[in-house]
Amino acid sequence: MNILVINCGSSSLKYQLINMDKEQVIAKGLAERIGIKGSVLTHKPAGKEKVVIEKPMKDHKVALSILLDVLVDEEYGVIKSMNEISAIGHRVVHGGEKFASSVLITDEVMEALNDCIALAPLHNPPNIMGIQACKEILPDVPMVGVFDTAFHQTMPKEAYIYPLPYEYYEKYKIRKYGFHGTSHKYVSERAASMLNQPIENLRIITCHLGNGASVAAIKNGKSIDTSMGFTPLEGLAMGTRSGNIDPAIVTYLMQKEGLTIEEINDVLNKKSGVLGISGVSSDFRDIEQAANKGNERAQLALKVFNYRVRTTIGAYVAAMGGIDVIVFTAGLGENSASNRKQICKELEFLGITIDDNKNNIRGEETVISTDDSKVKVLVIPTNEELMIARDTKEIVEQ
Ligand code: AMP
Repeated sequence: MNILVINCGSSSLKYQLINMDKEQVIAKGLAERIGIKGSVLTHKPAGKEKVVIEKPMKDHKVALSILLDVLVDEEYGVIKSMNEISAIGHRVVHGGEKFASSVLITDEVMEALNDCIALAPLHNPPNIMGIQACKEILPDVPMVGVFDTAFHQTMPKEAYIYPLPYEYYEKYKIRKYGFHGTSHKYVSERAASMLNQPIENLRIITCHLGNGASVAAIKNGKSIDTSMGFTPLEGLAMGTRSGNIDPAIVTYLMQKEGLTIEEINDVLNKKSGVLGISGVSSDFRDIEQAANKGNERAQLALKVFNYRVRTTIGAYVAAMGGIDVIVFTAGLGENSASNRKQICKELEFLGITIDDNKNNIRGEETVISTDDSKVKVLVIPTNEELMIARDTKEIVEQ
């Protein structure tokens, strides 16, 4: 059984075709600059050279049809016909309170997805466009929606209700939702399996540290709190996002700088985080390089980032009444030994000791804590696509 996993952004379409019998990626790729000049599809069939196709793509439907042609292409294709695609799994950013798990996409689900647009105006519309494009081109292939928010729907009310007038929750559904759920779920399940322990017995803190970053508290296999909130702006300092700040700063800055709503949104989402502090870059590799050369603001940006991860871990230890496992994942979490070391440095009091040699291993699932560390610390490369494919398979086989 082959499953096509699709992840649509406003001008991009990322895909993987996964053979589920072996859970192997047969091909993957990315269509970029959809709807703008210079559209390009980069396709990588497993075991073959990558192919770059430059063709106008006025919308996601055109991008999808180009990618499907590539999948069956005689030279660099990987399947003989579309019939070899058994189902499609779509990443959907926001499922609101309606979706606590992945679902088969029906007309009713499409309506519910449209209702969630107000909650994620930047993310959900391209996800929906991707679903619509697939529906038009491959109407008989079943599709499943997998939500970034779903895994966190198990949070207790005290974790997700904001101390605002309660009517705003009732009227506008303003509450914490949390994101990166597919990743937090995947790495927590992998952690339990690596440690050979039932997830139901573990208190796990998962740190998804990429350009967007969030931490989740997972008790007995269920998310009980997470650092992103109503939107992915809350929580940690990120590549370009501010994360938590005093809400009064928003109106103060708008007044002082004469900013519009769009402009302040832009400051908080695109000009803040480690980019804002360092003035160097939003990319942690650039910031680490600058910090190593003595750039003080780059050093400060890393310190602020690490401090916030560490204090969030501390808060979640309190939320779970203890901790057994910490997992690092995503671009920075998987690759930066120095960041992991800095984050864990002040956590020795919890019984955490890092083995420096193991911490330097890259690109594979590794236990980086010492054998006698009370809390196990793991690096696990995330695999959201596989998780989406697994959910899709399970649902279409029901
Ligand atoms: P993601 O959003 O998960 O793709 O993660 C992207 C972030 O991971 C970027 O800020 C990268 O700079 C960072 N990253 C990737 N590789 C490394 C590395 N070797 N060292 C430090 N940061 C890295």
